[in-house]
Amino acid sequence: MSGLTHLTAHALSDLLRKKEVKAVEILDAAFSRIRAVDPAIRAFLTLMEETARKQAASADERIARGQAGPLTGIPVALKDNLCTRGTRTTCASRILGNFVPPYDATVVSALDKAGAVFVGKTNLDEFAMGSSTENSAFQITRNPWDTERIPGGSSGGSAAAVSADMCAVALGSDTGGSIRQPAACCGIVGLKPTYGRVSRYGLVAFASSLDQIGPLAKDVRDAALILDAISGKDPADSTSADIPVPSHAAALTGDVRGLRIGIPKEYFISGMDPEVEKAVRDAVDVLRRLGADIREVSLPYTPYAVAVYYILATSEASSNLARYDGVKYAYRAGRPSDLLDMYMKSRAEGFGAEVKRRIMLGTYALSAGYYDAYYRKGQQVRTLIKQDFDRAFENVDVIATPTAPTPAFKVGEKTADPLQMYLSDIFTISVNLAGIPGISLPCGFSSGNLPIGLQLLSKAFDEPTLLRAAHAYEQSTEWHKAKPPCAKEGAGP
Ligand code: GLN
Repeated sequence: MSGLTHLTAHALSDLLRKKEVKAVEILDAAFSRIRAVDPAIRAFLTLMEETARKQAASADERIARGQAGPLTGIPVALKDNLCTRGTRTTCASRILGNFVPPYDATVVSALDKAGAVFVGKTNLDEFAMGSSTENSAFQITRNPWDTERIPGGSSGGSAAAVSADMCAVALGSDTGGSIRQPAACCGIVGLKPTYGRVSRYGLVAFASSLDQIGPLAKDVRDAALILDAISGKDPADSTSADIPVPSHAAALTGDVRGLRIGIPKEYFISGMDPEVEKAVRDAVDVLRRLGADIREVSLPYTPYAVAVYYILATSEASSNLARYDGVKYAYRAGRPSDLLDMYMKSRAEGFGAEVKRRIMLGTYALSAGYYDAYYRKGQQVRTLIKQDFDRAFENVDVIATPTAPTPAFKVGEKTADPLQMYLSDIFTISVNLAGIPGISLPCGFSSGNLPIGLQLLSKAFDEPTLLRAAHAYEQSTEWHKAKPPCAKEGAGP
């Protein structure tokens, strides 16, 4: 059966339950699609065809027994920093090039239990450090809307795979924007849940106080269904929250009458791309027409967010990445002269330039004599940024902003200038510092036919309200239905 790959997970699930299609047929369609399109897009680092065949067969048995859930038989892609037992998990780094985890991340086992079918592991910026997926040690992923352009990052492989219909949904991780920004660049939905909502066990750590796993999806309902499946307390992650998980899918009522939506004046800065600004302002008008109460809010510490993030995230990264020493697992350089030489050579050969830059920055910020000036100061400003949001959410339920300052840029355009690259996350980073949830959803196109993302934010653990607002907007617009050139029916690579 053709025409399956462009469907959402919930549409596929309806077909499966009505017995109009089998999970193995959906999987066949996904793999033919991957074979046709991925040579040009390069979203996948590893395909999991054998695992997927077994999962699809057991999904069909489960459906036959009448025990299917909403994700049973659905093809899912996993960012390659999520541990998969028996399947190599590289973080797009040479240092983990041959790493085969002996366990599954909690989110991976949750989706497996829900009956999902894993098609493969997707490309990312090395250790999720980047905004374009160009920092992968292995390959550059292309944007399905324009293959001269980046898909965003660091979850660029997951975003491109969903956008180009190589899977129905994908998981990514977001430390400073890595789910939302690629979702915006690729014209899909990306949700970063509240810190603590989803277990991070088995997510290879970048910056542990900021990292969070979430879905990349073709629409808001699919994102809600994935969130339902992966949320909750996990004894293996002490930072996961012991707070009851509501049904996020049930929150999608379509009604935003009376919902207070704040527009932060600091996010509509001069110099921002006028097409992005117009699309986001138009989106706010749509929400107003749906009955939302639109107000201006102020987040005065916004200008400090990028600086604070690059102190704190690099500090945490320098500690987290100390474990790659060539001794216990992962890459070890050949012919070292002694133990110290082995550490140094393994790390010198195993890590790429951006990762080394961050290890150096973070080690510096944490070093004796500088700790107070940088790390401690960064923590203090982080608190002020969080308080900005606390105050704003006394008056509004949801905040609306652009996701990224520009649509997807060209491959190579920002690689020579790390600061320019860091500024791609100017609208997404504060959200991780504050620990609150954020979603990006399609809200228009540039004159060059590149997708533009609307970002909505809410209070911690208020994903039901966040998703309700996102869904109401989405359902009264057509943007999420647009397909990139390479994903049109019958289009090849
Ligand atoms: N682009 C940001 C960075 O480079 C965010 C990455 C992320 O969210 N993983 O750190």
